Amino acid sequence: MSATPLLRVRDLSMHFPVREGVLLRASRFNRAVDNVSFDIQPGETLGLVGESGCGKSTLGRCITRLYRPTSGSIEFEGNEISKLGQRDLLPYRRDIQMIFQDPMESLNSRHTVGDILEEPLIIHNIGDRAARKKRVLELLDIVGLPSRSMSRYPFEFSGGQRQRIGIARSIALNPKLVICDEPVSALDVSIQSQILNLLVSLQREFNLSYLFIAHDLAVVKHVSDRIAIMYLGKIVESGDGHDIYRHPKHPYTTSLISSIPIPDPHRRVDHQIIRGDVPSPINPPAGCSFHPRCPRVMDQCRHKPPSLREVSETHDVSCHLEFES
Ligand code: SF4
Repeated sequence: MSATPLLRVRDLSMHFPVREGVLLRASRFNRAVDNVSFDIQPGETLGLVGESGCGKSTLGRCITRLYRPTSGSIEFEGNEISKLGQRDLLPYRRDIQMIFQDPMESLNSRHTVGDILEEPLIIHNIGDRAARKKRVLELLDIVGLPSRSMSRYPFEFSGGQRQRIGIARSIALNPKLVICDEPVSALDVSIQSQILNLLVSLQREFNLSYLFIAHDLAVVKHVSDRIAIMYLGKIVESGDGHDIYRHPKHPYTTSLISSIPIPDPHRRVDHQIIRGDVPSPINPPAGCSFHPRCPRVMDQCRHKPPSLREVSETHDVSCHLEFES
């Protein structure tokens, strides 16, 4: 591990005001991201897993600075970027890119693929027209699309091909970090593996770092060096991918792992179904926020919030079970 991580996030929170009443006063807050800390090293993939609404996409948008976080710090290559204005953020916009779940929403349907891929080069004043066209053709080749795609529109492509266009756009400026926000969730299973393989090969070729966001631990497991499990705005377990998968410590992680299908009809799996829905981040439960759904809940869990603590050099967990005296 290098001394300075590529990305260092500390105590990051994003609380959205909930405006209510005639005067639309914000008396309550949606704690979408609450005191989250993690690092990402150059060339590393951190998988971020959790149910819908747990705050993982909001976290990704804070890091790309689509949102200005409420508090906490985001250091990129040692430089604090969490409070920068739009102008000062421009150099970082080259280095930190995002791939969205639904490329149809992020690709302008009235622009050709050539225009879409050229746009970031124009914004960052890179090359003349001929050089930009050469780069667009190169990008199409890198993501496995034919050069004739340049003059076509996003709606003329399949979901998998559209995601390739989204990926091509995300790497157009040679970024160092790519936030992959559920990049395969909307795709057929057969196409998912093609896109995952593409992301892995791009990482090797260009030494990319990924924050790979997904609700499906099975997907994350195949691409991640380390995994962080998020629940109701907080990271509840994090560590080496194999360690988390083989020896989960948090009951929530255990249930996520037990829900991964195993393609072996003779192997018996003890499915641990989690009861109920994710509580509202506007009014999270007292104590451990997982306690209303936890199969191993204890008395102290209802009033005493656990903190994320080290169980080994490569594994942290936030659960009283691990630290009972
Ligand atoms: Fe379950 Fe208690 Fe651990 Fe929370 S702290 S996950 S409620 S055992």
